[in-house]
Amino acid sequence: MERTRSWAEPYKIKMVEPVFMTTQEDRERFIREAGYNTFLLRSRDVYIDLLTDSGTSAMSDRQWAGIMMGDEAYAGSENFYHMEEAVRRYYGYKYVVPTHQGRGAEHLISQIMIKKGDFVPGNMYFTTTRLHQELAGGTFVDVIVDEAHDPESNFPFKGNVNLEKLEQLIKEKGADKIPYVSIATTVNMAGGQPISLGNLRELRALTNKYSIPIVHDMTRVAENAFMIQQKEPGYADKPVAEIVLEICALTDAATMSSKKDALVSIGGFLAMNDKEVFEKARNLVVVYEGLHTYGGMAGRDMEALAIGITESVQDSHIRARVGQVQYLGGKLLAAGVPIVRPIGTHGIFLDAKKILPQLTQDKFPAQTLAAEIYVDSGVRTMERGIVSAGRNAETGEHNYPKLELVRLTIPRRVYTQAHMDVIAESVQYVFENSQAIRGLEMVHEPKYLRFFQARFKKI
Ligand SMILES: *Cc1c(COP(=O)(O)O)cnc(C)c1O
Repeated sequence: MERTRSWAEPYKIKMVEPVFMTTQEDRERFIREAGYNTFLLRSRDVYIDLLTDSGTSAMSDRQWAGIMMGDEAYAGSENFYHMEEAVRRYYGYKYVVPTHQGRGAEHLISQIMIKKGDFVPGNMYFTTTRLHQELAGGTFVDVIVDEAHDPESNFPFKGNVNLEKLEQLIKEKGADKIPYVSIATTVNMAGGQPISLGNLRELRALTNKYSIPIVHDMTRVAENAFMIQQKEPGYADKPVAEIVLEICALTDAATMSSKKDALVSIGGFLAMNDKEVFEKARNLVVVYEGLHTYGGMAGRDMEALAIGITESVQDSHIRARVGQVQYLGGKLLAAGVPIVRPIGTHGIFLDAKKILPQLTQDKFPAQTLAAEIYVDSGVRTMERGIVSAGRNAETGEHNYPKLELVRLTIPRRVYTQAHMDVIAESVQYVFENSQAIRGLEMVHEPKYLRFFQARFKKI
């Protein structure tokens, strides 16, 4: 018989946070009062919260001990030096500028490197990253492989760059119009999909040929490294920490939202190898974030981050983290529930068009599905479909995105395997009893980022 060894957690539970248990009747009222928008629910009315993996991780006892070691000096806090040392040791970048979270770092690097009229190619966009590139006068250009846009493609490295597309762009616009290539590990908007080291190495060779730097959105770099270890030939025996260093070494600068991989509630940084870029960033951070030794973070938060970085690249941690996501995805696949494949690293994406085929897209299938799952079990998920896509600025019509998804994002170290079972049972139940679902009608629509505050009623 073949030996199996499960992905079980490399920790035991020392403290618990009670959650309120509600009845289906309660939840029908709560979601009606929230206008059938999961963003408008109160968190106390939620049983299992899968809205996001951002800032929702459970910290370790070491990290909480680190919080007590906060050195809240305005300048030169001891905790900054610990954080700097962790970034150098585990990510390999020479210089670090702390920021209040990821978008603070994106703002600084965009202002420093992008000029009006520039083009910034990337492996798919992320909302805040693209916005800061545009605010600096740049135009984002998607150069990800086509497989990333196909939810049914089982291609293992949907985060890869299409190098022909990129080289064509460089030839068309000229290398001097491309301040850098923006590379995310893993690609959030594609469903948490990794880039391979093979692809990244070829990208490095191509960008070297044209002297174009690579800026690395390293928000989920450890999760990406784990997928390389699992799927890329030649890496099965390499520790995740070494693969992380190898990825970072192929890039010139990095922005980090430490609310994801790095296991803290708040914080981020900008890192780089170029002294001149560092000097500019160290100056600009004072304008927008805070002094260059805290950048909008409390000393205690920098200490928790330094420890979180160390913990985040351990094989035992990342194996259990991604293992839990894969476990949930595997259960849903086995139950025949249509989800985006391959299963990503930080969440599961349900294909609402397939689950509710009776609803046309203007009846908001993903919004409807998220509300139904909440009513069934108190599990809070998020719409990523027509509501998130907004309206066309010129015609005023809805944008009709190809993908109509519900995102189940798994916080790190927070929920147990039994929670995953409850989630899977609930999604399966709603999927199998979906024939009577009629969809929603929008009754309140905010002008900007409508998905946060839009209200609906049942048809
Ligand atoms: C969350 C996120 C960001 C932005 O970071 P914040 O800390 O939320 O400002 C940037 N890129 C990716 C891929 C992210 O997931």
